[in-house]
Amino acid sequence: MQIPGLIDPVPVPRAITPREDGRVDLLGLSALQIRAELEEKGLDIKQAKLRSKQLFHWLYHRGETDFAAMTDLGKTLRPWLSEKFVVGRPHVVEAQVSSDGTRKWLLRSDDGQDYEMVFIPDADRGTLCVSSQVGCTLNCRFCHTGTMRLVRNLTPGEIVGQVMLARDALGEWPKGTMAADASVEDEDIDAPQYSPDGRMLTNIVMMGMGEPLYNFDNVRDALKVVMDGAGLALSRRRITLSTSGVVPMMERAAQEIGVNLAVSLHAVTKEVRDEIVPINRKYGIEELLQACADYPRANNARRITFEYVMLKDKNDSDEDARELVRLIRHYKLPAKVNLIPFNPWPGANYECSTPERVKRFSEIIFESGISAPVRTPRGRDIMAACGQLKSASEKKSRAELDRLAEEKQAALG
Ligand code: SAH
Ligand code: SF4
Repeated sequence: MQIPGLIDPVPVPRAITPREDGRVDLLGLSALQIRAELEEKGLDIKQAKLRSKQLFHWLYHRGETDFAAMTDLGKTLRPWLSEKFVVGRPHVVEAQVSSDGTRKWLLRSDDGQDYEMVFIPDADRGTLCVSSQVGCTLNCRFCHTGTMRLVRNLTPGEIVGQVMLARDALGEWPKGTMAADASVEDEDIDAPQYSPDGRMLTNIVMMGMGEPLYNFDNVRDALKVVMDGAGLALSRRRITLSTSGVVPMMERAAQEIGVNLAVSLHAVTKEVRDEIVPINRKYGIEELLQACADYPRANNARRITFEYVMLKDKNDSDEDARELVRLIRHYKLPAKVNLIPFNPWPGANYECSTPERVKRFSEIIFESGISAPVRTPRGRDIMAACGQLKSASEKKSRAELDRLAEEKQAALG
């Protein structure tokens, strides 16, 4: 995908990261891709078709990573699979739990790139905040991720891997034998009967590190796997993709992914949005709101969420609130507004609006009949809240730079 202009998208990595041992990691692959891999390694077409479906089920419905435990796959096939394939997971570098129950994981890819995911438990739902890139090419002034130098797109495996890992950590895979499998070569009849557990992970938001629409193909492929009814089976109504406003990709997002849309608006004038969300210089507010009006999936039952970070004396006046209402009305948008109190991070140049200001801002919007709840910050104590994510890779590269400087010095001396 190429987007001409000021902001360069990052290169799309290979779908499957090559491994040193030559085995292929099936994590993140669709049933069709698994089938192609099986054929590539020598299974005949009929076998590959049957086995890919079974594997898909084991991988994404049961969360199984050990081929030996995939009891309906045949005794000779299982060691063959272990020889040629693996079912990987992102490496966990660090797992933290906030005093409010929010959890954050620092993950590492096979090539040593760090990224983060966050789980936010609530009374009636559990939301996983998933990253789409290591870092972000855009640098919204109030966002920690935007200050990272290292950027790489995450592969579908790394994106789906976050959901799989969360299910592992929450212990949410169904146990036992599936009734549907009983007719197929059931070699493990003694196993307890399959029973779906009550789930904690109910929703996914593509609101972690990165701009998902700058990694369109991988995000789409990953979410398709996540939504597949034979696997993780999360409904598209429970998935929300947040964009800072990559206008040319929005229609495709509706057509090819079809999840709920959130738009990081954050300002209502060109002057302020140009400053705090620099992609605005490329795709302005009018163009962005027109794209929202045209977003085919939006209607009153599935409204577009406008995210609005509350920055003291920057975008938080009564006038700003009224202009926001006017814009939403002008474009006849089925919209709700999420007011996000600014989450601070070291070196940030902004302050959060006062609670009274946030309240007044919210009231003005509510009074016009548009819902504008204030989002309670979650996980601030472990730097897991919106816009606080930034992995240690930056520190590592700083250390690397220092080391190189020292070596140079030593060589000169
Ligand atoms: N890149 C995408 C999605 C990730 S950010 C996007 O920008 O939409 C998720 C949300 O957190 C966005 O609305 C983002 O603007 C907001 N955000 C970023 N930094 C923040 C901060 N310091 N405090 C509060 N919200 C922030
Ligand atoms: Fe990137 Fe979103 Fe942060 Fe902007 S707010 S820098 S688009 S992650």
